[in-house]
Amino acid sequence: MPQYSAKFQCFAGCEGSYPVTKALYRCPKCGGLLEVKHDMAALRDRSAAAWMRIFDERYMRNSWPYGSGVWGKREWVMPEVGDESIVSTGEGGTNLFWAERLGKEIDLPDLWVKQCGNAHTGSFKDLGMTVLVSVVRHAMQTGDLKPRAIACASTGDTSAALAAYGAAAGLPVVVLLPRGKVSTAQLVQPLAHGAKVFALETDFDGCMAIIQKLAEEGLIYLANSMNPLRIEGQKTVAFEIVQQFDWQVPDWVVIPSGNLGNASALFAGFEMMRELGVIQRMPRLLVAQAANANPMYRAFVDGKDEVEAIPAQKSHASAIQIGNPVSAPRAMRALKGMNGVVEQATEQELADACARADRTGLYTCPHTGVALACVFKLRAKNVIKANERVIVVSTANGLKFTEFKLGYHEKAFPELDSRLRNEPIVLPAELEAVKAAL
Ligand SMILES: *Cc1c(COP(=O)(O)O)cnc(C)c1O
Ligand SMILES: [Zn+2]
Repeated sequence: MPQYSAKFQCFAGCEGSYPVTKALYRCPKCGGLLEVKHDMAALRDRSAAAWMRIFDERYMRNSWPYGSGVWGKREWVMPEVGDESIVSTGEGGTNLFWAERLGKEIDLPDLWVKQCGNAHTGSFKDLGMTVLVSVVRHAMQTGDLKPRAIACASTGDTSAALAAYGAAAGLPVVVLLPRGKVSTAQLVQPLAHGAKVFALETDFDGCMAIIQKLAEEGLIYLANSMNPLRIEGQKTVAFEIVQQFDWQVPDWVVIPSGNLGNASALFAGFEMMRELGVIQRMPRLLVAQAANANPMYRAFVDGKDEVEAIPAQKSHASAIQIGNPVSAPRAMRALKGMNGVVEQATEQELADACARADRTGLYTCPHTGVALACVFKLRAKNVIKANERVIVVSTANGLKFTEFKLGYHEKAFPELDSRLRNEPIVLPAELEAVKAAL
């Protein structure tokens, strides 16, 4: 068997490559972002058909580590990590929900929702975290890395995932959260897993600035998606979407975006499949942002190549309330490579989209609401055509956002018109009263 391998390289193209076991988050030459580069020549030793067969044989099997949709594609993700180093909770393999009723309502019958929130910690963040924590464990076993702790800044879901994987591996975890800006469920998760949780009087961007300094000083190992190891796991969403349609490419992939790591990961996944002959064309990318935190949308509308940082305003889509997205240059490349567009959704639009989707059997988090609202808008403008196949990536489980959903239905948010609200009907415990109210 040939030796598959992956290394860090400068995203902007500086010379040099570095082992993925090094604690390195920026190009040593230009200070820019890094990316993981695979030895594509080695991967070409198998035909596209042979890879698809292997991936299908492994999909959702119990033999370790192939119960994981990420590690079932291990040669394309992180080839040098052995079975004994892998920290997995069975990520990936999530349902593609055919949103039949919702799709019919907007004359888009081929609308699907990739339920990435049906995961161990309730969001897609598990996909990247299994790779990052496994590489750390591998690097500790080879002696390349001795981190005091793995740490991240988070809008809630990254810290939940890191805390769970750290606990599963027995590694110390530190998380920085913006105080009062994550849901109760998201706060409880790292607490329950025994992580050291710092709640800071700032927003996500403020937490991110501090965690980057800690990483630069070598005090922690950085688990944010600035670390390209995360992207390698998250790109498997692209593989799965195609695999779940018997290796056919959809027309659109829609992703709610904040720090823009996931949008970049989708492109990385589709690009890798194209390079290795599994697909022949790219789907179009729709990056969906909250209007209250829309730096990528602004750059797109203004036709700019660079994303300018803005202060993010408060949004119910708290996981994407980010004004200074770390992966902006990666996402710019993704937009170009996938003939992409950026749309935005207001608080009213995202809340109504959630309520509407829930009425058709989904149970959407506010971020998925942003993505759906953007689909509604682009369908209405006929940018998305009626006959196109559209995949919305649902990033988190609605169960993490009970305050938001209950608040909508109880009309607790004065700024929102809860026109699709549904409240319990309080009745005396009498048969006749219930009959009368039926
Ligand atoms: C992290 C997260 C996002 C945003 O992903 P980025 O890679 O930061 O763009 C969207 N939705 C949810 C639920 C998340 O947890
Ligand atoms: Zn560089």
